[in-house]
Amino acid sequence: MAGMTEQRTPIATGGCQCGAVRYALYVPPQNAHACHCRMCQRATGGAFALLAGAPKADFAWTKGEPGVFRSSNLAARAYCRDCGTPLSFSYDLPEARFYVTIGSLDDPGAAAIERHYGIESRLGWVRFCDDLPAEETGADPKAATFFSSMKSGQSSTQ
Ligand SMILES: [Zn+2]
Repeated sequence: MAGMTEQRTPIATGGCQCGAVRYALYVPPQNAHACHCRMCQRATGGAFALLAGAPKADFAWTKGEPGVFRSSNLAARAYCRDCGTPLSFSYDLPEARFYVTIGSLDDPGAAAIERHYGIESRLGWVRFCDDLPAEETGADPKAATFFSSMKSGQSSTQ
C-alpha cells in the first residue's frame, strides 16, 4: 500500500461515517460483488458485504488510521475505530485485490456489483441482482486449496 505522500489523482475516494478515516483508489473500482458468506455478515452486521477492489498498489489510506481485525489467518478487515464503519477486506496475498466496502465509497453508484459470492450462506429472503453470476466460497479448485488452510478468527461460525 502506498503511504500518505501519494501524488497520483484518485479515481475513487471514500471513508467512514464520521470522517476520521479516508481512502483513495487510483483505478476504477474492480470486481464489485456482494459476498453473502457468514463472516461478511458478521463483519458488516448486515445480510451481506458489498465490496469493490483495486490492486494493493492502487489503494491508499489518505486520512486517519483504521483499526484492523484479522477475521482469519488469511485476511484482514479494517474499520473506523471512532464510528465503527466497516471499510475494507483483503487477503494477505500480495496479488490479491484490496477491497473496500461499496457503501463507504463517496460514489457507491459507480461500483455496480458484477456477481454474488459466498452464496452457501445467502439468506433465503435476500433477493437482488438475481441475474448475476453466483458462486459458493471456494468453488474453484485454486480457491479451495487456498481456503483449506483458513483458520477463522470469528468467535462463532454460526
Ligand atoms: Zn469514523
